[in-house]
Amino acid sequence: VRTVHTAPLKAANVKITGIKTPSQPKPNEQLVFGKTFTDHMLTVEWTKASGWGIPEIKPYGNLSLDPSACVFHYGFELFEGLKAYRTEDNKITMFRPDKNMERMNKSAARICLPTFDSEELIKLMGKLIQQDKHLVPEGKGYSLYIRPTLIGTTNALGVSTPDRALLYVITSPVGPYYKTGFKAVGLEATDYATRAWPGGCGDKKLGANYAPCILPQLQAAERGYQQNLWLFGPEKNITEVGTMNVFFAFKDSSTGKKELVTAPLDGTILEGVTRDSILALAREKLDPSEWNINERYYSINEVEERASKGELLEAFGSGTAAVVSPIKTIGWTGNDIDVPLLPGEQSGPLTKDIAKWIADIQYGRVSHGNWSRI
Ligand code: PMP
Repeated sequence: VRTVHTAPLKAANVKITGIKTPSQPKPNEQLVFGKTFTDHMLTVEWTKASGWGIPEIKPYGNLSLDPSACVFHYGFELFEGLKAYRTEDNKITMFRPDKNMERMNKSAARICLPTFDSEELIKLMGKLIQQDKHLVPEGKGYSLYIRPTLIGTTNALGVSTPDRALLYVITSPVGPYYKTGFKAVGLEATDYATRAWPGGCGDKKLGANYAPCILPQLQAAERGYQQNLWLFGPEKNITEVGTMNVFFAFKDSSTGKKELVTAPLDGTILEGVTRDSILALAREKLDPSEWNINERYYSINEVEERASKGELLEAFGSGTAAVVSPIKTIGWTGNDIDVPLLPGEQSGPLTKDIAKWIADIQYGRVSHGNWSRI
């Protein structure tokens, strides 16, 4: 048997071709999420025969692909979303990129696209950000959104393992999700469409998971709700909201004990980096005599019942784009379950604290292990 040695992904091999005339940063107020891109992108080709090729940082531009490429027919596509922040002492750091790379490799393995050394792609993203560092915006809520993408590029019809792939990274300067502070959202608890199921791949960041979720969102919007609260199974368990993980806070009226709860990672939940960060910070910072922090199954029926007893304290979504997104109402079987908000405000107190804990780390006011990476 001949052993085939294929090349690993190697950041040190990068070839950089700079743009002739670098663009000027747009004024912060003109940044619309995901619509402006920086001057450069990173691309690396992979083939089954040779492994990873030379990483290239080059001017942002169109890709040229054969119409038979398997990405266009069978959905061989996965992506990531993470952010780099300009800290208050003017360094540029990425927030927990190792978690995104770990998830990206799991997504790749699931659809038979090539995996890679996470640290090498972190180094390459660092070089890409350096190339366009003047375009990383400054200020509260501003950041550089990073979109690593991996596609299968085999030029042939016929569903099979891709023997060619393209990894690329583009970056987009973005502003705060909520320009004027929080804006609590209304959700429709959705049991007529299912985002993910046991044995499926809802815990992977595959493009194929996203397109089918737009129609239910439009249907919820027709009834006046911004997002779907995805339920699963006959128990009507709460899984996620829109494209975010979701947390609820309750208070037991007999014991007075409070609980922060989110669904467990059972294969139907995306393993959110923000979710993981919130759980870690809540376990560090909340007084355990006052709070239980649980990853457990809980249903819309529990939320409805506890809201009626005055035991529902807060609810919020969590994800890289908005960090936390407070919820004010949930439509379910024709009624609205109202989530309490602070008087005159758009969130509850815990939601506000969590947003601050995370922002303090992202903008370099507080350090937390290796969560901020240069
Ligand atoms: N769930 C889904 C379905 C998502 O698309 C995202 C965004 N990536 C999240 C949760 C939140 O994940 P993260 O905190 O890593 O952004």
